[in-house]
Amino acid sequence: LRELSIALVHYPVLDASGAIVTTAITNLDVHDLARSARTYGCARYYVVHPISAQRELTLRIREHWTSGSSGKRIPDRKEALQRLEVTSSLDDVFKAMGGRDAIEVWVTAARTLGSSMPFAEARERTQHEGKSLLVVFGTGWGLDRSVVDGADAVLEPIRAASGTGYNHLSVRGACAIVLDRLLGAR
Ligand code: SAM
Repeated sequence: LRELSIALVHYPVLDASGAIVTTAITNLDVHDLARSARTYGCARYYVVHPISAQRELTLRIREHWTSGSSGKRIPDRKEALQRLEVTSSLDDVFKAMGGRDAIEVWVTAARTLGSSMPFAEARERTQHEGKSLLVVFGTGWGLDRSVVDGADAVLEPIRAASGTGYNHLSVRGACAIVLDRLLGAR
């Protein structure tokens, strides 16, 4: 099984008008993606934010739940948040994982962006030996084109079998579903 990490990107992401923006850290996203990462055995959960005050806030949340009083009170949460790393850019995530050439980057989107990799194929690929994998999630209205274009693959958008015509999941929901499709027990 290949090592797999996830990243939650706050820049560069899009706003409702398609402009590139920086979004704010969300406490729920810090916790909920960490629990999904821990459940499915992800090596790391990278929160990517270009603003130092926002990175510090994220680190304070991590400390509170790992070394602080809440870590003692709720050990399950501590275990999840120990996987959390905070970086200022996706490039820094690549560096932390050994460099861009050492890893394979898959991005996620609700929209269909050119040709995408079906989950069956992606799951199959996670089972074999190979480069470490990084699965990237967006905030706001989704990842900027530059992140998508720099990836090795775009994962197929999650959709309902019945074709509801709506697939705008929260990033927390999307992350849990993606990890279950890639790494869940069958
Ligand atoms: N404000 C929103 C929230 O509370 O989560 C942020 C939405 S953000 C654009 C949602 C992210 O979740 C996307 O960038 C993508 O990574 C993922 N996502 C959402 N719906 C998805 C879908 N149907 N298929 C694949 N990924 C999806």
